[in-house]
Amino acid sequence: MKEQTLRLSIDIGGTHLRSKLYGLHIPKEHIQPTTQGDLIEFIQSYLNRYPNIEFIGISFAGQVKDGTILSSPNIKVSHLNIKEYFQSRYPNLKLYIDNDLNCAILAESQYHKQPYISALFVGTGLGAGVMENNKIIRGYNNQSFELGHIPYQKAPFACGCGKDNCIELYASGLGVEKWLTYSNSKYTAKDLQTLIDQKHPIALQFQTALLHAIATLITLSNSKTIILGGGVISKNPYLLEYIQKNISTQVMPSSLQGVNILLSSLENAPLDGAGLLDETEFR
Ligand SMILES: [Zn+2]
Repeated sequence: MKEQTLRLSIDIGGTHLRSKLYGLHIPKEHIQPTTQGDLIEFIQSYLNRYPNIEFIGISFAGQVKDGTILSSPNIKVSHLNIKEYFQSRYPNLKLYIDNDLNCAILAESQYHKQPYISALFVGTGLGAGVMENNKIIRGYNNQSFELGHIPYQKAPFACGCGKDNCIELYASGLGVEKWLTYSNSKYTAKDLQTLIDQKHPIALQFQTALLHAIATLITLSNSKTIILGGGVISKNPYLLEYIQKNISTQVMPSSLQGVNILLSSLENAPLDGAGLLDETEFR
């Protein structure tokens, strides 16, 4: 009898590593803190336990090109050329890795069946992915729409990329956390809703920066559908109302014509998209 082949999807974000193994009777799900271990060792342990894994798709919160990780400020990876590392050891294994927002936009475009679609996700960081005519816009080094790192305002601390003026320092979970720590606040980024209710200056600067990031994405991408997701958005879905109410003050009217801004309906779009990375029409 032929052994059942298995497919492993991994989403590795700034805070959590989530994985899902398909092909068993019930998919096997796993979650652990990103800081817990090395990505190479994590994958190796799966391959040791399930040698019939034939596909691994990885959604990575960082810069990636052609199966190699270009930078990984928050995630421990002992071999950056991850695709070559595993495929040279397992010749029948297909391994794909891409930026987490590129994975998210793959899943969102499949869900919405919309050829002009963008995703902006706010979690530990802030990222965006853009698809036009069913192709991801990638750029020369697969770094198009690294929206979290557009220059915004100088902050008193540095971003993971090394600059001190990235919009991610204002409009992300880690950014809010850094500002709260800097101002010796008793609150954490988990208290965002309370802070917004209080009109706390750090919450107001978060909302303003988020609106600016979304307006920038709409203006540059000219997408028809804009999907908002990520941990901070899913825990604070009321932010959509603020965005929809105020976006027209930031975007010229013709760029907003026919545009829908929606919350993600998927539980974990980057993880779903990691499982689609071998669908060649998108690459
Ligand atoms: Zn940055």
